[in-house]
Amino acid sequence: MARIFKRCPCPEEAWKACPHQWVVRYRTAGGRSSRQHEQSFGTDLREAEDFALKVEHDKRAHVFVDPKAGQALFRVEAATWLDHHLGADSSIATYWSVLRAHIDPAIGGKPIGAIRREDIKALIATMHRKGLSASRIGCAHLVISAVLAEAVRDKKLPESPCSSIQLPGVVTAADFVGPVPGPRPSTNGPHDHQRSAAKPQVKGHDEDMEPYKPLGRVFERHRLLR
Ligand SMILES: [Zn+2]
Repeated sequence: MARIFKRCPCPEEAWKACPHQWVVRYRTAGGRSSRQHEQSFGTDLREAEDFALKVEHDKRAHVFVDPKAGQALFRVEAATWLDHHLGADSSIATYWSVLRAHIDPAIGGKPIGAIRREDIKALIATMHRKGLSASRIGCAHLVISAVLAEAVRDKKLPESPCSSIQLPGVVTAADFVGPVPGPRPSTNGPHDHQRSAAKPQVKGHDEDMEPYKPLGRVFERHRLLR
């Protein structure tokens, strides 16, 4: 464990109030044989505590994640995820098609541990430039984030690079957080009733994709009506 202390002449009981700096002493992954480090902070104990927590968190992530597991290719992980996916046949067919046409040429041959946020952002931007629909782009994002989230759950990655990535067009990342509470307060005009009529049915067993797909459909329908 990281240790938080002060190297001052004051008694420990006075540390909370005295004007001297906090020090965090910690070891990196590797236990007792690894080198000991120290980091000094100001008088803000909170900062020192946050740092100590982060050190412990990172250490744990590295201890539990097998570095070799990160060498699995994205395309292999994606195929496994799709094979095990319990969705409607039509949505699985859509995932395969987006995977083959767009995702695989960009990151399919990369080890999952080498995929960076920039790679995913570049792929989204490329799809946007090609004029692909927001729901198609959202679908690509969904597949990538589901595959990488699964890798995190399987302890193949410490964390997913696919978080809070901005999606272009009308469908923004915020729209992908479901389920929809109801019609929006304004700006939807005459289409309000269409939106609520087409409210998504969220199935419990399919947490990876259900909040996305119905919204994509709502969006497509909404656009056709314009
Ligand atoms: Zn002191």
